[in-house]
Amino acid sequence: MSRPSQPAPAGTASPPAALEAVQLVKHYPVRRGARGLTGRGRQAVHAVDGIDLTLTAGQVTALVGESGSGKSTVARLLAGLEEVTGGTVRVAGAPALGRGRRAFRRHCAQVQLILQDPFASLNPVHTVRYTLTRALRIHRGPLRGAELEAALDELLTQVHLTPAPRYLDAHPHELSGGQRQRVAVARALAAGPAVLLADEPVSMLDVSIRLGVLNLLRDLKERLGLAVLYITHDIASARYFATTTSVMYAGRMVESGDSETVTQQPAHPYTRLLIASAPDPDRAAGADPGEDDRSAEPPSLLSPPAGCRFHPRCPAAMERCRTELPHRFDLGDGHWAACWLYDDRPVRAGATGDAAAPAGRTTETTT
Ligand code: SF4
Repeated sequence: MSRPSQPAPAGTASPPAALEAVQLVKHYPVRRGARGLTGRGRQAVHAVDGIDLTLTAGQVTALVGESGSGKSTVARLLAGLEEVTGGTVRVAGAPALGRGRRAFRRHCAQVQLILQDPFASLNPVHTVRYTLTRALRIHRGPLRGAELEAALDELLTQVHLTPAPRYLDAHPHELSGGQRQRVAVARALAAGPAVLLADEPVSMLDVSIRLGVLNLLRDLKERLGLAVLYITHDIASARYFATTTSVMYAGRMVESGDSETVTQQPAHPYTRLLIASAPDPDRAAGADPGEDDRSAEPPSLLSPPAGCRFHPRCPAAMERCRTELPHRFDLGDGHWAACWLYDDRPVRAGATGDAAAPAGRTTETTT
């Protein structure tokens, strides 16, 4: 069945793009003489290569991938904690990430990052009151007295830590992991941001309290109209939590679309591998998730594989995959995959079509 042949534009719906990244690139130069390096000339770790991302107010976008795929680097770039090598970031349509402390502070007022480890992200010697007061004064000026108390109360109420006085004078070690992560979220809210970047926000929490923190983030994006980037290696939680899911592999984005489609009808072999690797009680014990090699390591980003970066692990790899970088193929309704399996054009002479087209293959489209 034929599908529309235009590339899937991200964020074309009516809500404005709270944050937009276009062709984001981050390369880390490597010192000459570093262990494992051979040859001459400058070398670099290609952590992020040409990522496009649109975050919309009132929506959660999941960025999924295994460790080392570059998703946390994307978060740090968007938060302004690292300088981009290439590409642009816009917040509410205006260029962001200018140089200098003032520009950084302006950016922080709009874009806040929540880190994975609530144990490390709060200073253990400071009380919750100190942590939140400092954040409030940085972003809202010299609040004092009743005005300050009201702001502190409001922040803790927003993250469901009530009654506030019970938590204000506590130190981090007196709180549970979930409570600490809620304090970290409250600190982020003190800036009054439009965008929350949540980098694996529940992966270090007990399973029993993960859902509570995810529900809190969902509640906040609805009540405050926040645009949330949810970074995770757990694609199952992306389906539950996010409107849109984008999948990263080895510094590149390989698939994107609405979360239901990406998780229920994954198009890219890597997405299928991720889903097959996720625990699933419905799958019969011992069932083989496919021909994939789940023990394979991700490639070195110092010298990433030519062509499709997934080809050394891909059970469907063709000859052209080893030399030609696949572009995006539109699969309809905003769903796309960067994979040659969706190219209906004749394969050039010499290439071997040793992989069957997946079921439901669509017409060729490129970006
Ligand atoms: Fe596999 Fe080729 Fe598709 Fe890459 S482009 S995922 S190697 S089939």
